[in-house]
Parts: sequence; structure tokens; C-alpha cells
Amino acid sequence: MKNTIRSVLIKYNVHPTKQRIKVYDFLIKNPTHPSAEEIFRGVYSEKNPISLATIYNTLKLFEESGLIRTITLSDGKSYYDAFLHSHAHFYSLEDGKIHDLELNDQAIKDQLPPEMEAKLVNIVIYGNINK
Ligand SMILES: [Zn+2]
Repeated sequence: MKNTIRSVLIKYNVHPTKQRIKVYDFLIKNPTHPSAEEIFRGVYSEKNPISLATIYNTLKLFEESGLIRTITLSDGKSYYDAFLHSHAHFYSLEDGKIHDLELNDQAIKDQLPPEMEAKLVNIVIYGNINK
């Protein structure tokens, strides 16, 4: 698993330090769209002391490298997603959880006027889940 993560980081031109491997591993194992603080609590240990600033820097590097996507909600808070397949997000107003919604980015891009070229589709739908 560690070697797989190492090769993914290298593929995205990210030098695979021990801490970066831990952060990416956490994101893969926790596909719940965690915040930087949640990632920090998940990877910090006495054996592996890491600062919150390092977490933020690592996430920024990952995002700039195209390794992860950031979901920024209307309140300005950011959450992180290591899964890059075409999908939108549904933010539950009741419990604050972010759910994945299967959504074809290409179908949305195809609806744009010809002069508009989409580089990124990043859709968050806010609502309630009725049971
Ligand atoms: Zn997602």
C-alpha cells in the first residue's frame, strides 16, 4: 500500500516524504471529505508529530499538483477529496456531512455555450435528506 501511494505521489510530481504519504493515505482511507483539522487529528501521533501548518501546506501542494480536489463551502470552510472521478457533492444542512453524487462532468460541459470552455466542474448542492 505504501509503495502504491509513493508511486501515485511521484506520478503527480509530488516528492513522497513520510508525512505526505501519511496525509494521502488518510485521505484515501477516509473518503468522507475531511477538513484539515480532521486530517491533522487522524495522522498526528507521538511517533509521527506533524503540525497543522504542515497539513495545510501539504494539502495546498496536493491540490496544485492535481492529486486531490478541495471543496470550499459557502461559509468558506474547506474539505478535501482524493477521489478525482467525475462527481458532484451534496452538503446535508442537517448534519454537515458531504455526500458524493454521481454526476457526469462532460454532460455539464456539453451544455455550456460554445464560447465558454470549462476547466473544472465543482458543484455543491445544499439541502436536506428526507428519510
Ligand atoms: Zn467527493
